[in-house]
This record gives sequence, structure tokens and C-alpha cells, in this order.
Amino acid sequence: MKPAKFDYYAPSSLDEALDKLAELGYDGKVLAGGQSLVAAMNFRMARPTALVDLNNVPELSYIKPTEDGGLAIGTMTRVFTVENNAEVAKRFPLLVEVAKYIAHPQIRRRGTFGGAIAHADPAGQLPSIAVLMNMKALIRRKGEERWVDGQDLIIGPFMTVIEPDEMLAELVLNAWPARTGYKYVQVSRQSGGYAQSAVASIVTLDENDKCKDVRMVLMSVGEVPILSQKAGEILIGNTPTREVIAEVAEVVTSEEIDPATDLHATADYRRSITRVLAVRSLTEAFERAK
Ligand SMILES: Cc1cc2nc3c(=O)[nH]c(=O)nc-3n(C[C@H](O)[C@H](O)[C@H](O)COP(=O)(O)OP(=O)(O)OC[C@H]3O[C@@H](n4cnc5c(N)ncnc54)[C@H](O)[C@@H]3O)c2cc1C
Repeated sequence: MKPAKFDYYAPSSLDEALDKLAELGYDGKVLAGGQSLVAAMNFRMARPTALVDLNNVPELSYIKPTEDGGLAIGTMTRVFTVENNAEVAKRFPLLVEVAKYIAHPQIRRRGTFGGAIAHADPAGQLPSIAVLMNMKALIRRKGEERWVDGQDLIIGPFMTVIEPDEMLAELVLNAWPARTGYKYVQVSRQSGGYAQSAVASIVTLDENDKCKDVRMVLMSVGEVPILSQKAGEILIGNTPTREVIAEVAEVVTSEEIDPATDLHATADYRRSITRVLAVRSLTEAFERAK
């Protein structure tokens, strides 16, 4: 299939890109790595009037430390670059763990960190991790900028709060406290395939090995990444024993997720594997926190 006719612009600076998006308004669409957008255009599921290609805008590709020990990642940084960056590995090893599951190396070399998040695929790993880590998203339009919390960025399947004349410019990842552990687990039918279900957790222990904080996100089991509320209600202030973790998994999968039946799996199967994945993710995250 070939895409429908479209205009193509390749600005060479951020200002030029923002000018073009302002001029095009609802007719404009950002092209990042193209790994999802171009396929959607070829299938005519997306028919943008005009593309604003960000691949020649060098200001949007970087990984920089922030003052509080976190990192700021420019939207056009390739997933492969994030996956292989020493500072990312040191401060946020979860991202390295997750990246290995995203498609294949060829796709990660081209696909971008911000593009994957802005795409907001309910089965995409990075949108879920943006919610889990509550990454701060810098959204820019000509002459303006605003910050949105990662957990407020995604409003539906393939939908975010980013307007057509805006772009996601940067993601800021806040430093983790001491005694923090993490674990991403997923089930997919083949290596590099989209997950039928996935769970990622970030937990922090206090000095008595009680749970001080927990964030758990469930992926591919609802229209958007699901940030569990129940996990915190049950775990915070308690010792994360096998029994407590099993209770969390049971409550979360019976009350918080809404899996669908499709070609790849039934809703019941998804619910069942999510329960197992939740136990694995939390157990390993608490082990790592120690
Ligand atoms: C064979 C194959 C397998 C894949 N498997 C997986 C997988 O297992 N897991 C997974 O998560 N992904 C998977 N992907 C998708 C891949 O990770 C994409 O790279 C990613 O989803 C989109 O990133 P991109 O940079 O290519 O964005 P593009 O395809 O260029 O854009 C995607 C969407 O985001 C918008 N957008 C991009 N950047 C911005 C921005 N800065 N501001 C505002 N809007 C923006 C675009 O307008 C478009 O609507 C797969 C892709 C392929 C081709």
C-alpha cells in the first residue's frame, strides 16, 4: 500500500519546526522515527495533510543530567541510544530492561523515545513507563511551553493531551530515592512482538524493610496504561510478604484492569497472566530494593 498524498516539510531547527506546526494547525503532523506513523499511513489508517519531519532538528536529541540526579531526554533521542546510555543504565536501569522488549534493534535504532510516548499505544512499553515513572513532559508550541505529568499525558488509546500545533519536546525523569527496586515483565507470543500483558513496578523500602512507596503499571489490559491505586493502598506501611503481594495481584487484576478479547488472547487469559506477572514484578522489585 502507498500513503495518501501529503505535503512534507523538513525544518532544520526547533524554531522552524514550531513555526511550521503553528502555520499548519490541525493539518500538521509530526514525523519522528516513522516506525508507527509511516505504517499507519501506508495502510491509510492515518491520512495527514502535511508532515513536519523532526529528523533534521538536532536540538531535540540529547540525554542530559538534571540537578536533582535525574535525566532530561530530548524527544528525538532514539530508543536504541537510551537503551545503550551509561547514565540511563546507572540511574534508571528499568529503561534498559524494558527497551530490550520493544520490537527489534533495527526499529529501536530509528524509533524515538518521545515518538513512542506520544504515540500512546496501549500495547507500547514506553507510554506505560512514562506513566509509571510520572515523567515530566515538556510540550512546546510557537512562543509557549507547558509541563504535563506523565500520568496525565495519555487520555485514550493513541490519544494524548498534545495538540496538533504542539510537540512533545522533552521528558524529565526524576531521581529515584535510595532502596528503590524495579521490575518489568511481559508475556508475548514471540520475541519482539507486542505484549499480551505486561506489568512494571517501582518500589521503595524503608529502613525496616517495609514498603515506603510503590508504583505499578499494567499494560495491554485496558485502553490506556493502568496505574494501580490498590497496590499502594495494600502495600504502603506493610512488609511485602508473599501473602501481601499475592493479595495485591488478586485485587488489582479483579478490580483495576479491563482486558479485551482479540485475535491474540482472550480477556480471561489476559487477566490470568496479569495476576502472575504482577506477583513476579513486585517480588523481584522488592528483592532489588533490598
Ligand atoms: C515491526 C514493528 C514492531 C514494533 N513493536 C513494538 C513493540 O513491541 N512495542 C512498542 O512499544 N512499539 C513497537 N513498535 C513501534 C515502535 O516502537 C515505534 O518506534 C514507536 O511506537 C513510535 O515512535 P516513532 O519515533 O517511530 O514515532 P512515529 O511513528 O514517527 O510517530 C508516532 C506518532 O507519534 C506522533 N509523534 C511523534 N513524535 C512526536 C512529538 N515529538 N510530538 C508530538 N507527536 C509526536 C506522530 O505524529 C505519530 O502520530 C513496533 C514497530 C514496528 C514497525
